[in-house]
Amino acid sequence: MKVIQSVKEISNIVSGWRREGETIGLVPTMGWFHEGHLSLMRMAREKASKLVVTLFVNPMQFGPSEDLGSYPRDLDRDRKLAELTGADILFSPPTEDIYPEGFQTQVSIKELSKGLCGASRPGHFNGVTTVVTKLFNLTQPDIAVFGEKDYQQLALIRRIVKDLNFNIAIIGHPIVREKDGVAMSSRNSYLTGDERKHALCLYTSILHAKKRVRESTDTLRSDTLKGEIEEIIQSTPGCTVDYVSIFDKDSLIASQTVDKDCMLALAVKINDRIRLIDNTPLYDT
Ligand code: AMP
Repeated sequence: MKVIQSVKEISNIVSGWRREGETIGLVPTMGWFHEGHLSLMRMAREKASKLVVTLFVNPMQFGPSEDLGSYPRDLDRDRKLAELTGADILFSPPTEDIYPEGFQTQVSIKELSKGLCGASRPGHFNGVTTVVTKLFNLTQPDIAVFGEKDYQQLALIRRIVKDLNFNIAIIGHPIVREKDGVAMSSRNSYLTGDERKHALCLYTSILHAKKRVRESTDTLRSDTLKGEIEEIIQSTPGCTVDYVSIFDKDSLIASQTVDKDCMLALAVKINDRIRLIDNTPLYDT
C-alpha cells in the first residue's frame, strides 16, 4: 500500500488505473481507524479491483468551538491498519492542497442538510459535501462506501451523486458496534471510564424504542416515544439530549407517528464535551 499526499500524484495514478480498465473503490475517512472504518474498507475491497482510502480531517466541517484541534490523529497507526484490509492507496493530503489560497467554492444541499445534525452543527454538511465532491473528482471511484452510522451524511452523498450526475455507486455499510452495543466512533477515544459506561444510553434508547414499536398494538405517536428516550438520556449522569428525532428514512422529514419507513436518530452530549450519535430503523425488515 502506498501513502500518497500529493493531489497531482493521486490524480495521475487513478487516471492510469482507469485507462487500464481497473475499477476503483473509495472509502473517505477522518482517520483514527476502528473496526467500523475497517469493515467499510473490506467491503469496498470486495467490490472493486483497486481500493483508495482517504484520510483527511476536514477543517471545513468543524464549527469554531468543535474538536478540530483535538481530533485523534496517527498516520502511522492508521497506515498499518488500512494496509491489512488490502487497500492500495492511503491518500492523506495536507489541508493547503485541498483548500489552496483563493479556494471559495462550496457544495451545499438545501433541504436534507437542515435538520438533525445539520441543525446542531451549522455549516457542518457544507464542509462534508464540498470535501466529498472534491474526493470524488480526485479519485474517480466506481463505488464508494459510507457508514450508516452517519445516516444523514449518507443521504446527502446519495443526493449529490444524483444531483451532480456522478457515475458512482454509493454503498451504505451497517453500523459496527462494540460488544455492549455502543456504536464505534473515533470520538469514543475521548471517553473516560465512567463516560464510556454512560455512553451506553444511546444504545439503550435504541433497544427501548425498538421494543416499544414491536410491542405496540396501536399507532405510536413520535412525541411519546421521543419523550421516553429523552427520559432515558437525561437520567444518565452527565448526559444531555442534543436531539432525538423520528423521521422518514428517505426525506428525513419528521414524522408525527411511527410507521414502517421511520428511522430514529439521536445525538447526545456527554459532560458537555463529547457529542455522540446513533440511529436505527424502527421496524425490522
Ligand atoms: P469518519 O472517519 O468518522 O469520518 O468516518 C468515516 C466513514 O466511516 C463514514 O462513512 C462513517 O459513517 C463510517 N463509520 C464511522 N463509524 C462507523 C461505525 N461504527 N459503523 C459503520 N460505519 C462507520
